Amino acid sequence: MAFHARHLLGIEQLSPLEITTILDLADRYVDLNRRTVKQSDTLAGMTQINMFFENSTRTQSSFEIAGKRLGADVMNMNMATSSVKKGETLIDTAMTLNAMHPDLLVVRHGASGAVNLLASKVNCAVLNAGDGRHEHPTQALLDALTIRRAKGRIDRLTIAICGDVAHSRVARSNLILLGKMGNNLRLIGPPTLMPAGFAELGATVIEDMREGLRGADVVMMLRLQKERMDGGFVPSMREYYHRYGLDAEKLAFAKPDAIVMHPGPMNRGVEIDGEIADDINRSVIQDQVEMGVAVRMACMDLLARNLRADRGRKIAESYV
Ligand code: ASP
Repeated sequence: MAFHARHLLGIEQLSPLEITTILDLADRYVDLNRRTVKQSDTLAGMTQINMFFENSTRTQSSFEIAGKRLGADVMNMNMATSSVKKGETLIDTAMTLNAMHPDLLVVRHGASGAVNLLASKVNCAVLNAGDGRHEHPTQALLDALTIRRAKGRIDRLTIAICGDVAHSRVARSNLILLGKMGNNLRLIGPPTLMPAGFAELGATVIEDMREGLRGADVVMMLRLQKERMDGGFVPSMREYYHRYGLDAEKLAFAKPDAIVMHPGPMNRGVEIDGEIADDINRSVIQDQVEMGVAVRMACMDLLARNLRADRGRKIAESYV
């Protein structure tokens, strides 16, 4: 298997071959997940701890289901009632958990870079479930799998990422992944929601949504992340919907078979029209959720293989 990483911290560290390895294995887990009996013993005997310092519905439940289907013992830490609230530092919490010998640690944190820091302190495999505005690698991988299954490939596509790019780790991880695989990337949004450095990642920045959507194969909408905004980034929700909300009229500028994506949670009537989101001929939003479980199973499977190999090597060395 062409996957040698110890942790899954970001797309930045993955090669195109490693990305393809994850997607190929995830395809097999999609098949398993569609059966009545979904159990595998890949992670049997292993302990997975989910630590979510930020709210999550999809990602946390997806990681929990993925771990359980692979046979791991899964524990969800309730960070709202944990000692973090009593002032314990992230590293102290991590070291405490580390002493309980987990094998996989799934972490979401509001600060960019927090998960990388934590990974440098523990003895298990760490998976980044989203850190600040930095990365959300499993989201980009599940998006890639969704696109590959809908379009038959994950290269040479015109992909428009629209909306609140500035606050979005989803946009960042997707840009890196889709750029590595060789796609034509466009970023659409108002200048107030467009960070300067993103164009350097190889995307064309377009302010007008209709122009940006013209001829697109994939339309990826982003949530307006009000919780990360501390000032007036948009004049009003109505005005934003008028200019950047995806509705049938704007979608008509994309290719007739363009797919519509959204990582969730959606603000209906803000960045996307409810009817478009529910249109089974255009929207692949539910497929994204399904692919999420399979991709997370693939990532944990691959990391567990490397963890076992690593530990085996250390034991062998201790006998020399
Ligand atoms: N669920 C995604 C994330 O955690 C996207 C979002 O919150 O808008 O980044």
